[in-house]
Amino acid sequence: MLPLVALVGRPNVGKSTLFNALTRTRDALVHDQPGVTRDRHYGVCRPEDQRHFAVVDTGGIAGEDEGLAGATTRQARAAAEEADLVLFIVDGREGASRLDDDILAWLRKTARPTFLVVNKTDGLDSHAALNEFARYGFSDVIAVSSAHRQGIDELIEQVLAKL
Ligand code: GDP
Ligand code: MG
Repeated sequence: MLPLVALVGRPNVGKSTLFNALTRTRDALVHDQPGVTRDRHYGVCRPEDQRHFAVVDTGGIAGEDEGLAGATTRQARAAAEEADLVLFIVDGREGASRLDDDILAWLRKTARPTFLVVNKTDGLDSHAALNEFARYGFSDVIAVSSAHRQGIDELIEQVLAKL
């Protein structure tokens, strides 16, 4: 079995875009509307001459426990719990939000190794973008642009070092 990396974060931060960048597919639906990914979605990242790993895209965690959003949240939590490594994706343009804080709180409870990925840093000062999230206290953190494939190879290197 391949090691499993879960992509977790609130809606619209770019989880599905990152999934597609890692798997070099367009399998995940990328949408301007939050919450398009309703269930778990698996793929494989196949870096050249290196170990392969499985990736699971999860639905946006909407912070609700009822209805579809609640079911999506449970799926995302289940994915994080079965993963060898969690990539906690946040939006470098919007900065930290209350929902990010909430997700981080339950991620800490799952006690899975977690890597902070600050996405959408294209055209931004990546140091400033990372600084926005300094209070989260991650030592493993990287700024990327999934849409422009910036920082993705470095991210893959760092993931492989943790698996
Ligand atoms: P998800 O809800 O977390 O899966 O987010 P999506 O992957 O569906 O992306 C949500 C929106 O953010 C879409 O309009 C994407 O095109 C956009 N997006 C994703 N990654 C980036 C990025 O690296 N830079 C910019 N500027 N936009 C991005
Ligand atoms: Mg999605």
